[in-house]
Amino acid sequence: MSDPAVELDRAALRRFLRERYPFVAETDHGPQAVAAGECDRCGHEPRMVQPCGPPPADLSGPATPDWALGRRCAVAAGVEGWCDGHADEAAEAIAWLQALPVEADDIARLWWIATGEVRATPDAARRARALLAGS
Ligand SMILES: [Zn+2]
Ligand SMILES: [Zn+2]
Repeated sequence: MSDPAVELDRAALRRFLRERYPFVAETDHGPQAVAAGECDRCGHEPRMVQPCGPPPADLSGPATPDWALGRRCAVAAGVEGWCDGHADEAAEAIAWLQALPVEADDIARLWWIATGEVRATPDAARRARALLAGS
């Protein structure tokens, strides 16, 4: 049996994702701006931003230095999730999150696979290969 993760051309996947989904290339917000992983509040969406305000009281566990929120939780936290001095950045980040394509969560997870930060599951490897094959 071959390992589907090994067959994946990660460099090609990075090129493809950057072209098709430019948001992955941004360094202020999105999968490159945070540590790879799931939202520290709900645990069910990839991390996208780290608001600068104190960690929300309802994080799923103790706040680590790289705690971050997924798009839904960050939008739900709103501008109050950031400190008063960064209200402009907060509004900008929230607008950015709201403009993401619907499939952005899947794409962010694929990005971390493409960079090697996260190991591909067989399902994710299949999805990546299908994208690269143009289907
Ligand atoms: Zn969340
Ligand atoms: Zn701030």
